[in-house]
This record gives sequence, structure tokens and C-alpha cells, in this order.
Amino acid sequence: MISREIKIGNIKVGGDNPVRVQGMLKSAIDDYPALIEEGSRMIEAGAELIRCAVPHEDYAVKLYNHLKTLRVPLIADCHFKGRIAEKSLAAGFDKIRVNPGNIKEDAIIKMAGLAKKSGKALRLGFNTGSCEAGTGLELAQLALKWDKKILHAGFKNYVVSMKSSSVPDTVEANRYFSMHSDTPLHIGVTATGPEEEGIIKSSAGLGALLLDEIGDTLRVSLTGDSVNEIKLGCTLRDISTDTISGPVIISCPTCSRCRTEIKETVKKVQKLIRETDFKKPVKIAIMGCEVNGPGEAKSADIGICGTAKGGLIIKGGDIIGTVTPDNMIEKLMEELKKL
Ligand code: SF4
Repeated sequence: MISREIKIGNIKVGGDNPVRVQGMLKSAIDDYPALIEEGSRMIEAGAELIRCAVPHEDYAVKLYNHLKTLRVPLIADCHFKGRIAEKSLAAGFDKIRVNPGNIKEDAIIKMAGLAKKSGKALRLGFNTGSCEAGTGLELAQLALKWDKKILHAGFKNYVVSMKSSSVPDTVEANRYFSMHSDTPLHIGVTATGPEEEGIIKSSAGLGALLLDEIGDTLRVSLTGDSVNEIKLGCTLRDISTDTISGPVIISCPTCSRCRTEIKETVKKVQKLIRETDFKKPVKIAIMGCEVNGPGEAKSADIGICGTAKGGLIIKGGDIIGTVTPDNMIEKLMEELKKL
């Protein structure tokens, strides 16, 4: 079902809008310079919404006043007490995230009323760890019950999330919910474990949902750097819609036919792209031999391909010259800058 459009600060979410990438701050709650520096790096990496834990009502105003300098919609993550959420709304946060598993129902209904009055948004976040739901289906059914309650209370400007550390449960919950409600979904897999495993779990779970066109905002959760969460979130979103928002390298996996050192070439090109601050959305092919190289490079804006004599340089699908192993990267970068 196509989700309805809602508004979080100055950003539209749901409907035909692109999937928005959200990040959550990890710096110490009272280290304001660190929080702002972290938030700035996340925004630079592509975050459009920033969420911050508000552990006590006394933090609400101070946190908001510092974080508003980030100039993106701010989300207060509030648990256990309704008054933390109320103070956060009053302080200026654009959206409040609450978990119906640890906060009283009347407090949430009251919060929906306050959010409606002030033009703010809510997220009802359901996690298998803190709700009476063990499976994806149970999680979705619980979320749908709450969805009805909030709509019945006359409030529409909210999203729902259903997260689990199980990828199949997360996918099942979101698929089921999206078949029964047009409430926008914030998607993510939670408690994903060590970073390498977390990247795979997030890619599998979010990838499955995004390819089904489910999800209006997303957050990648890793036991690791928050900027890496944003980079992975943006990449997943772009891959699922075949969108390029910056330079993308397509390189072959190599095999025994390979005529050139692909792994090192890819690393060097990545480094040069970073160092030269090249940001144009172009596809760069780096291929090992003439078997699949010229064909694969056709779909790229620019590419190099190893041959018995050195290599070919391919632009817009046409072979425009030959290169030697020594000048291959230099020639590629020269042509790249002309694009
Ligand atoms: S492009 Fe050539 S080297 Fe690379 S995987 Fe294909 S056949 Fe192997």
C-alpha cells in the first residue's frame, strides 16, 4: 500500500517522497561539542534526520538548543516517562520517538494530541525486545492495533517502526503492516551484532523491504561508527532504486583470465576520488580482461579493461584508446575529470 505523506520539520516523508536516511547520535549526552561534530559528519555523509536520546526531561531544552544548529529535523528518543516526551516537544524537537512497550497508553494518546496541536510528528517504535510480540506477525498485529488507536484519536502525522534482531521477523512485520495500513514506516534491523555481521543483516533486511518499495525513512544500526551507518543507509537506498548520487565503481571479481591487478587498482582509484573530492554521479568500470570487460564497461560512463598488451580505456561504451599498466590509472583519472 502506498504510504500517506507526513511532515517532520521541513521534510516530507512517505507518499512519493524519497526514502529519508536517519541517524542516531552516539556521543555522550552532555558533551555538546562532540554531539554537534558527530551530527555534522552524519549530515555531510547524507543523513536528513537526526535522532538523539533524551534520557531525562532536564536534558530536553539544553539538547535542543545545541542541536538546532545542525539545521535538520531533530527527533527526541524518549522512554518510560510521558513528561520527557512532553518537555522535548515543548523544547522544539520536530518528532518524538516513543515505545508503546514501556510507556503508558494514556501518555501516548496525550502526546499525539500535543504533537497535533504543535504540528510535530511522532514515531511509535515497536521492538521485539520490549513488546509483547515474539514474531514478526505478532509485532505487526500489535503495531496495527496501535495504529488504529492513534488514528481514532485524530492524529495522522506519525510513522511506525517494527524492529527485531531477526531479519525474517523484521521483514515479515513490515510487509504485513504495509499491506494493512498506509501509515509511513521507519525501517531498520536492530541489535545487529558485530559490525561486519550488522552490515550483512541490515543489507539483507533493508534490501528486501526497499526492493518491495516498503520504508519511508530508514536507519542502519551498527555496533560501530554512526557515520558508517549513514553511508550504508544511503548506499542501500540508492542501490535499491538504481540511483547514483556520487561516483560508483563497478569492478569485476577477477578470475584466472585477469590481465591486470584489479584489487589494487580499485583501491587506488577510490583513494584518488576521495583526495580529489570528485563527487559527480558517474559509473566507473574497472575490469580484468577482454572477455566481459568491454561489455560491462559499456554500461559505465568511463572504464578501463585489461588486455594482453596493457589495457583499453572505454568512454560512453566506445573504446577511445589504449593504456599501459603504468599509466592506466592516470589516464582513467584524466578522462574522469573531463566528464
Ligand atoms: S572481466 Fe575477465 S578477469 Fe574479470 S572476472 Fe570477467 S572474465 Fe575474469
